[in-house]
Amino acid sequence: MNDSLKIKELAKACGFDACGITSAECLPKDSHYLQQWLNNRFNGDMAYMENHKEKRANPKLLIPEAKSIVVVLLNYYSKLQQQPDVPQIAKYAWGKDYHFIIKEKLKELLSLIQSEVKPCNGTAFCDSAPLFERRLAERAGLGWIGKSTMLINPNLGSYCFIGELLLDIELEYDQPIESKCNNCEACLNACPTKALLKPFSLNASKCLSYQTIELKSDIEKDILPYSGLKLFGCDNCIEVCPWNKKAIQNNTTQLQPTIDFLSMTKKDWENFSRSDFKRLFKNSPLQRAGYKKLRNRLNQMGFISNR
Ligand code: SF4
Ligand code: SF4
Repeated sequence: MNDSLKIKELAKACGFDACGITSAECLPKDSHYLQQWLNNRFNGDMAYMENHKEKRANPKLLIPEAKSIVVVLLNYYSKLQQQPDVPQIAKYAWGKDYHFIIKEKLKELLSLIQSEVKPCNGTAFCDSAPLFERRLAERAGLGWIGKSTMLINPNLGSYCFIGELLLDIELEYDQPIESKCNNCEACLNACPTKALLKPFSLNASKCLSYQTIELKSDIEKDILPYSGLKLFGCDNCIEVCPWNKKAIQNNTTQLQPTIDFLSMTKKDWENFSRSDFKRLFKNSPLQRAGYKKLRNRLNQMGFISNR
C-alpha cells in the first residue's frame, strides 16, 4: 500500500468520511475569480475576504515547506428535523462548532501519519486560513464544485465540512472528477433571494447565510420579505440538490443536536432568553452571530418583543 492509501485509511480511522490528496501547487484561476467577485462587492461586509489574496491562490505562501495537501470531509447530515413552525437553524450548526472538531481530528491524523507512515511536519486548517478549500477538495478528487458553489461529493452530497492538512512530504495525488450537475438548476431555482445569480456565481451579500450570520446589523430591508423563518443560515439550495438524496446520517457524537434544542416549540422560542442561549448553544456555531443578533432576528420574525 502506498503512503497516500495509508493516509486515507488513517483518515477513516480518525472519523473522517472521505479523504483525498493533492499537491500544494498554485490555484491561479481562482485568484482571478476572487478578484472579480470582490470587484462586484459580492462579499458584502466581509472585508476579511480582501486580505491575503496571494496566499489564497498559493498555499506555499501560507506554509513555505508545504508539498502536499491532505483534504478531508466530515459529513454533518442529520435526518432529524426541527418543528416546521419554529425559527430554523441550518443543519451545519446543530452540534458543536465544527472548526474545533475537525482540527482536533486532523491533529490526531497528523500524529498517526508521523508514527505509521513517515516522519513529516504538518499544519491543520479548517476555515481558519486563506485557502480555496472547495477548490482544493475538488482537485483532491473529493467531488466537484456545483452550480450552487458548494462541493458535491458523489457519495455524501454536500452536507460536508472540509478540512486540510498541509504536509512537507511528497505523496501520490488524486485526480479531479468531472462535474455531474448536468442540466440541473434546482439550487438556482430554490434560492429565495436570488443570491445565486447564475451557475457558479454567488452574491454572498444577498445570501441568507450571510444576512443571518455575518452581517452585523439586522437583515436588510430588500431581503427581509424572502427570509421566512430563517434564524441562522439557510439550507434551501442544499436541500433541493439531487445529490443530497443520498445523504446519510452523520455519526460524529459532537455534531448531534440535543433533544432540548430539537424539541423547542413556538412557545419556547417566544420565551428565548440569554440563559437559554448559553445553555442550548454553548460552543455552537451560533456563538458567531451572538445572542443580540439572534434576539433581534426573533423580534423581526415576530417571535419575541424587544421592548
Ligand atoms: S443558502 Fe439560501 S439564500 Fe444562500 S444561496 Fe443557498 S438558497 Fe440562496
Ligand atoms: S442542485 Fe443541481 S445544479 Fe445545483 S449543485 Fe446540485 S446538482 Fe448541481
